[in-house]
Amino acid sequence: MEKKINNIIISDSLKNLSIYLNNNKFSNLIILLDINIENKCLDLLYKDVPILKLKKTIIIKILSGERYKSLKTCIKIWKIFIKKNIDKKSLLINFGGGVVTDLGGFIASLFKRGINFINVPTTLLGMVDASIGGKNGINFYKYKNEIGVINNPIYTIINYRFLDSLPKKEIYSAFGEILKYGLIYNKKYFNYIKKIKIYGIVNWVKIIYIAVKIKNKIVDKDPKEILGIRKILNFGHTIGHAIESLFLLKKKIITHGEAISLGMICESWISKKVNNLSNKDYKTICKVILSFFKIRKIKKKYFKYILKIIKNDKKNYNNKIYLVLLKNIGSASYNHEVHEKLIIKSIKKMNDLYKKK
Ligand SMILES: [Zn+2]
Repeated sequence: MEKKINNIIISDSLKNLSIYLNNNKFSNLIILLDINIENKCLDLLYKDVPILKLKKTIIIKILSGERYKSLKTCIKIWKIFIKKNIDKKSLLINFGGGVVTDLGGFIASLFKRGINFINVPTTLLGMVDASIGGKNGINFYKYKNEIGVINNPIYTIINYRFLDSLPKKEIYSAFGEILKYGLIYNKKYFNYIKKIKIYGIVNWVKIIYIAVKIKNKIVDKDPKEILGIRKILNFGHTIGHAIESLFLLKKKIITHGEAISLGMICESWISKKVNNLSNKDYKTICKVILSFFKIRKIKKKYFKYILKIIKNDKKNYNNKIYLVLLKNIGSASYNHEVHEKLIIKSIKKMNDLYKKK
């Protein structure tokens, strides 16, 4: 089965990439690759796109992990581009997870004022989020995605068969983002997702297709994030990112999906307090999220740090905190000014869910 939305293709192979490369001439083909990428993924790439093996493809391997999504990595790669005479007619293929597509898109968008690039995400998070929507960027001075550019790849080619070799932990992480799409935009999708058993038979095309469709619909209404509607994609991310940063600082491991799911629990509680989200919906949200993730308690001594990070968030200004809040499951609104006391209270409420277990 193959599904297509705009320039995003979802199927069980990379044949479309092969067809595109055979029909279009590029002076250079460059693959930006995560060094940890499974050999199985590379085998699938070469099997479906033999031209990449035949031609003099330039392969650039990078270390994966958020800390390498940096200006230092960009400089290294731009130097390689210059050495290899990469010109405007070259094509960069970003092959990997969110770090690779975020970084690669940024590198391609700035080099010689922009060369073409294609995203081939190999993780579920990349397929449903990072590789679509046109956001590219790097982390800078302790802040996530602080420097970046909105620019779309020629194509995003999704082959869900890459998921076979993905650790279950990473599959779970993506479900944070997938649940978010249901919560902010589509109740039916949320109800479908909540019944998914990751270890069972999963209809990946359906899950990815609807997630991509929702994200695309929202992004299309506000591609440059000027009108505001695109902000609803940040649901759970204001508090979630702060939790993620805290764990990063403490050198403790938390996946992005886990962190934003905890953020969604906190922000749902605030939605109940100030946006009329019903208690029934709030309870359902907590129950569903807790069927995918465990509560990670946040100690009181870190509350100040969490607030500091939130105030520095790109989504806020004038030292005020603005949140995306739910009205009910399937619909969200944005630009809600929320007092910091309410943020702290929501984290305490989230902590309480841990005690009850
Ligand atoms: Zn996210």
